[in-house]
Amino acid sequence: MSDIPDLECRALCKSYNDFQAVKDVSFSVPKGTFFSILGPSGCGKTTLLRMIAGFQEATGGDLLIKGKSMLDVPPNKRPVSMVFQHLALFPMMNIGANVGFGLRQRGVNKSDIQVQVERVLERVGLGGVAERPVDSLSGGQKQRVAIARCMVLEPDVLLLDEPLGALDLKLREHMKVELKKLQSEFNTTFVYITHDQSEALVMSDQIAVMNHGRFEQIGTAKELYYQPDTAFVAGFVGEANTHTARVESANGEALHLVTPDGLHLRGVDAGDRLAKGDRAQIFVRPEAIRLSRSVADLAGLQNTGKGRVESVLFNGANSQLILRDGANGAEMSVALPQTAEFRDLAKGDDIHFGWAPDQTRCYRQVS
Ligand code: ATP
Repeated sequence: MSDIPDLECRALCKSYNDFQAVKDVSFSVPKGTFFSILGPSGCGKTTLLRMIAGFQEATGGDLLIKGKSMLDVPPNKRPVSMVFQHLALFPMMNIGANVGFGLRQRGVNKSDIQVQVERVLERVGLGGVAERPVDSLSGGQKQRVAIARCMVLEPDVLLLDEPLGALDLKLREHMKVELKKLQSEFNTTFVYITHDQSEALVMSDQIAVMNHGRFEQIGTAKELYYQPDTAFVAGFVGEANTHTARVESANGEALHLVTPDGLHLRGVDAGDRLAKGDRAQIFVRPEAIRLSRSVADLAGLQNTGKGRVESVLFNGANSQLILRDGANGAEMSVALPQTAEFRDLAKGDDIHFGWAPDQTRCYRQVS
């Protein structure tokens, strides 16, 4: 296998007059990787994707595909293809003509187009539909036609601009699995942009979290979830209880922090080398908080308390409790364990809670 990545960006920048939309972005994507760029609206994802496609000119840095700089290569000559959010299928053409469109542009002869179109439709599970109108397909099938239309051109890199954004929830869930499966079957490098963390977490081999034009962290879904490098990543990827807090005391690596409403956090790892008086942002995952009817069961956890159930957000296996700490009024979201013991908890019930110190993530607060 070649060591040259399919895609590499080196300190890539894009400014619109005085505004820097993409700032010094560097990353490389090995062949066959499902690479997602995840970030909130306006962080620069589309600008970055459009630079890779060649629709947008970079104002600094370099962009290479299979080791070759693309900066002077026009969009139609780049070995990339793009799936748009609204798919951009041609309604007047049948499915085969849609899929064969790019091949016709390239001047491929009619009989070869027919063979290649049928082959790629088979690969996306739509064999034998080439003559049918596009509108006879379901939303999920249209997605597959859009992928087939790109894959028939055998791009080195497939760019996907939030292609699931317009689908209803159920189909979106289904298409996440489908897209990942198609990507691994084609073994093509996918670069997928989304603001939806659950899409990125489920499908990607690698995820870059983008904020204000920069990459904050690149990692696997598990790395981002369990070892976020920054407060932004900790807050953006997955659910978390978030508080600001002040360092009450620092004893070597372990901190004692207090939130403005009086929640004490003890034994917290001082990831950011914080000292007494510093302000911090802290994050605790809802599933890290243990519940118990008896305080004795929580012995050994340094952060414990007694809370009152404010509300139960029932959502099957992903149900949550909103608890209010009886001592200080702090609100906490807790994943509801799927056991009979807790299933009947209701508004107004009291319950003990606690979490281990290593479950608190703590970052210096940047004001
Ligand atoms: P969304 O998810 O909402 O599409 P995004 O992360 O893709 O957002 P971009 O569309 O890349 O973000 O925009 C990044 C920033 O650049 C935004 O602040 C946007 O207003 C700005 N921007 C984008 N295009 C232009 C332009 N042509 N001229 C000036 N500013 C622009």
